[in-house]
Amino acid sequence: MVNRRNLLCGMGALPLLGARSLWAGTTHQLGRHEIYSVSDGNLVLPGSLFFDGLPEEELGSILASAGVARDQVTPPCNLTLLKQEDRLVLFDAGAGPAFMPSAGTVLDSLGTLGIAAEDITHVIFTHAHPDHLWGILDDFDEPVFYQAEHMIAETEWRYWTDPNTVDSIGAQRASFAVGAARRLQAVADQMTFFKDGDEVLSGVRAHQTPGHTPGHTSFEIRDGGQALLVGGDAIGNHHVAFARPDWASGADQDPDLGAQTRTRLLDQLVTDDIALLGFHLPDGGLGRVERTDTAYRFIPEGT
Ligand SMILES: [Zn+2]
Repeated sequence: MVNRRNLLCGMGALPLLGARSLWAGTTHQLGRHEIYSVSDGNLVLPGSLFFDGLPEEELGSILASAGVARDQVTPPCNLTLLKQEDRLVLFDAGAGPAFMPSAGTVLDSLGTLGIAAEDITHVIFTHAHPDHLWGILDDFDEPVFYQAEHMIAETEWRYWTDPNTVDSIGAQRASFAVGAARRLQAVADQMTFFKDGDEVLSGVRAHQTPGHTPGHTSFEIRDGGQALLVGGDAIGNHHVAFARPDWASGADQDPDLGAQTRTRLLDQLVTDDIALLGFHLPDGGLGRVERTDTAYRFIPEGT
């Protein structure tokens, strides 16, 4: 199958091979699974989205110790790539060309690993927000990962393809709803669905982690006693989310449910000694969760 994407990719891919310095990611060997973090660039967002309504004094000291500004945040976007037998699995698709100029770089990052879009066999979604979903279509509205089976939680699919969602979600997120519905419909014939607890691929289990979105899902990749959680946005940053997981976040569609999910997940990651790859966590997003006197901290791999 030759389409315009193919031609553009073919012309652009070669100079990137071997340019590993572009790839701000990390590798993690987990038994038979090879796991990479691949960068999709970063977002630029107003701090008010995350921080308004929180107790400013305690917030100030958490942000100061993390070196994060109150007025603007620039969270990285880390996609997870899983190499498994003859599969190349991408968790989320990135932001694509239409969301933010600082994001949408995942095809370049994959190129530095010698991987082209058509090599991807599966794209598995944590949720359908723009920075995770919009990368499935290119500038010409054609599927980017056209050889891949796409997989999403039934609950997430139903929510974003429901024609009522655009009216019920609130003005701030209405464009998310329009954008998600259009893109999901465009790849409907590539899409398959899973439920909470399903083993979506060998060694990869879906865990519903709702709050950020109604059908948000994290994925446990396991081989024997070793495991890593592809967390998506259930633990959405390395500062407030770890220091005060119980605080409601304006970034979550259901802030109270998001806080409950985050609190439960952090405890589980420490208790069960599971590594974490967080979509918006620093240094490639791959690391471990540690308990502190009062809450938790994120320890990036290699530090
Ligand atoms: Zn996100």
